[in-house]
Amino acid sequence: MRILIVEDEVRLARTLKDLLEQHNHIADMSFDGESGLDNALSGIYDAVILDVMLPKLDGFGVIKGMREAGLQTPVLMLTARSELENKVKGLDLGADYYLTKPFEAAEFLACLRAILRRRGEIQPDELKFADLTLNINSAELSCEGRRVRLRAKELELLRILMENGNKFVPKETLQLKVWGYDSEAEGNVVEVYMSFLRRKLSHIKSKVKITSSRMIGYRLEADND
Ligand code: CA
Repeated sequence: MRILIVEDEVRLARTLKDLLEQHNHIADMSFDGESGLDNALSGIYDAVILDVMLPKLDGFGVIKGMREAGLQTPVLMLTARSELENKVKGLDLGADYYLTKPFEAAEFLACLRAILRRRGEIQPDELKFADLTLNINSAELSCEGRRVRLRAKELELLRILMENGNKFVPKETLQLKVWGYDSEAEGNVVEVYMSFLRRKLSHIKSKVKITSSRMIGYRLEADND
């Protein structure tokens, strides 16, 4: 999953980013409400972690802007204030969950799983395609008992391909979802990672192939030989 953290306390933002990355997510940070809303509106995120007290635009303004633009991305709001009034306001504006600072890592991760599940954004812990099983939590890809670990970006790429089954996914979509807008990723980064994935598929002797069409994109194909 690709997750946006909008939090002006830089240390907390970095701690959350590290935590998300340890759990095989990709995380980006915005340190004020305006850039947070801009980033959220890109539509490339699976969830947004949103602080309430932010410079330029507060968390309520961010979520209001997101919902007015028709964006249904699940939002977990963070606040140092535990007053009922703020919770109600955030929930009314379309936040999915409220977490009061300070909180434990386990509590944060549980809330995140809850909001992803509620929106139907999260897939079961395992995805299957032909002879492949991808365990999202452990980032482990297996084929008939043979296993290989994927790195975060490989996991995200393969997850998107598996969710799309036989359908082609445009290269631009993959690049945006996995590397984001302001990445310094080279133009051929998707192809480079596809070659990592192809190597791993052949390592576990899967019959699944990643095929590409220059005009359309990438997809998985099950080789039935
Ligand atoms: Ca703050």
